[in-house]
Order: sequence, then C-alpha cells, then structure tokens
Amino acid sequence: MNEKTNLLINDKWIVSQRGNKNPVDALKPYGWLVEKERTISGSIADTGIIFLTNRECPFHCLMCDLWKNTTDISVAASTIPDQIRYALDKMPGIRHIKLYNSGSFFDPRAIPEEDYEEIAYLLENFQTVIVESHPKLINEKCLKFRDMLCPDLHIALGLETANPDVLEILNKQMTLDDFTKSVGFLTKNEIKSRAFILLRPPFLSESEGIYWAERSIDFAFNSGVECCTVIPVRAGNGAMDHLKMSGDFNMPDIHSLEKVLEYGIGLNAGRVFADTWDLGLFSKCQKCTVKRTERLVEMNLNQKIYPRVECSCDRDQRSEIRE
Ligand code: SF4
Ligand SMILES: [Zn+2]
Repeated sequence: MNEKTNLLINDKWIVSQRGNKNPVDALKPYGWLVEKERTISGSIADTGIIFLTNRECPFHCLMCDLWKNTTDISVAASTIPDQIRYALDKMPGIRHIKLYNSGSFFDPRAIPEEDYEEIAYLLENFQTVIVESHPKLINEKCLKFRDMLCPDLHIALGLETANPDVLEILNKQMTLDDFTKSVGFLTKNEIKSRAFILLRPPFLSESEGIYWAERSIDFAFNSGVECCTVIPVRAGNGAMDHLKMSGDFNMPDIHSLEKVLEYGIGLNAGRVFADTWDLGLFSKCQKCTVKRTERLVEMNLNQKIYPRVECSCDRDQRSEIRE
C-alpha cells in the first residue's frame, strides 16, 4: 500500500471537491433499464433496475459519485411509489427488480417509511426485489418492509474493501465488524444479502487491488452474503480525480477485473458478478475490449470460467502487475 496521503480526507474535503449535481426531476426516476442477470435459482432472467430520484445519501464516501443525481431535500411522500409506477410501465413482464436510490433504501429521509406499503403493493407480482443500504442502516425496518412484500427481499450492502486501513480512508463510517453484524442480522432473519466490492480503491497498486478484491470476496462470503458484485473504481467525482492527479489513485485494468471474477466464480461460494458498465475506461487496448467485455458478461450469466481472451496487451499487463 502506498504511503497514506497527507490530505485530511473527511466529509468536508470530499464535498469540497465536487462539481455540480445533474438536474433531476423528483417526479421521475433518473434512470431505468432491463438487463439479464443470473438469479439465485440459476435461471437467467430479465431484471429491471430503477434509479430512484431522492435525497442525497448522508454518508460521503470518498469514491462515491451517486450524489450527482440526487435532490438536496427529501422528496414528498408518495413520490417514490409514483416513480416506481412510472418505470414499471416501461418494463412490462419482468419479475425481478432492483430499486437503487443512490443511498440507502432504509434511510427515512430518502424513502419515507409511509411509502413502504404502496411500494410493496406495486411489487406484489414480482419474485425478487433488491434494494441497497449502508450496513449501519440495517435494522428492524428491513423486517417491517420484508413482511409487507410478496417477493423475496434481497439487500445489497457496500463492503467496498476488506482492507481495514483503506476502508477507513474511504470515509464509509463503517468497520468490518459492522458489515459482518449487519449480514448476520439479515441472515438470521432469512433475508439474502449481496456485497459491493471495489476493485482497486485508492492507495493500492494494481496487484494489491487484485489481492484485496479477492480477500474482500472471501470476507463477504465468510460473513454470509449470497452474492458479490465487483466494481472497478472510477474517477469522476472530484475527490477521486484529485487523488488521481496526486498519484494516489489509478483506475484498475480490465485484466484485473477478469482475474478477480475468475477467482470469485472459482470459489463456488455464491454468485459473483463483475460490473461490466463502460469497461472501455479500464482498457488501454482497442483490440480486445469488446471480446473481454463479452467474456465477462457470459461469465456473469453462466457463473463459469471461460477461456481467456489472448492479445498482445497481456504482456504489458503482466509486467505492470509485477511492478
Ligand atoms: S453509503 Fe453508498 S451511496 Fe452513500 S456515500 Fe457511501 S457509497 Fe455513496
Ligand atoms: Zn488487447
């Protein structure tokens, strides 16, 4: 790990590095899409994602850019069900849905509790609903929402990294013990959890980034999660761009994502996915990015390790990892 920075990385500094938010309409989700995902039963199913527009997350994690599409104040009651209704109309026939709200579903200033019942009603014909939450906001409210739902509730939690020093610098305001306790609470209450894991957060070299992503998958499964999603870390939120300029952060390479996904699937401990969004950002080679992305997508869907894509860029990457 690099020498830690002299910067005082705290809420104030992280927020001071930001640019402007995007204009959003509180009456509509800021995005929605349907993608294929391997379900817990092993089938491959269309899964909707609704990116809900709501109040900004109260945490200020170093690497987070989700604040860009949020409001400054809480949205009125009934707004979130209206947003869900709006998006569901555009994705008929799906039975699995992710409600991602750029923060924590169980943050009452983001999703008013009085809306839970209507949300549950809208989702009564679904099989699975996945929401996201900071581990520290896992509590009885999750059980209250679960009890209103017909579909199974799964909750995605940001582990980020099992490296305790880096986790502290990320300003997540969470310890590894907090994560384990939250997953334990959910498991005890028969709610499945999944972990978001960062590939190469700041202050790690490429090889350390791979090492800690793999240890984070181990840690998440040992804690009891059912699924892990590995996310290569990007710049673009101001703070990360500053660390890139100072040499404390470099974006990971697509080869490293491939290696970590192979590791995770090879464990046979649960589903492991790689985030395949915009992987051109993580490749210096024009020749193989499309093929590598296709391989990662197929590995995500089938949870099998397919033969590697061979390309002249492999040699450069091997020497970078050795450095
Ligand atoms: S808890 Fe999640 S949404 Fe909130 S700042 Fe951290 S990464 Fe972003
Ligand atoms: Zn290549």
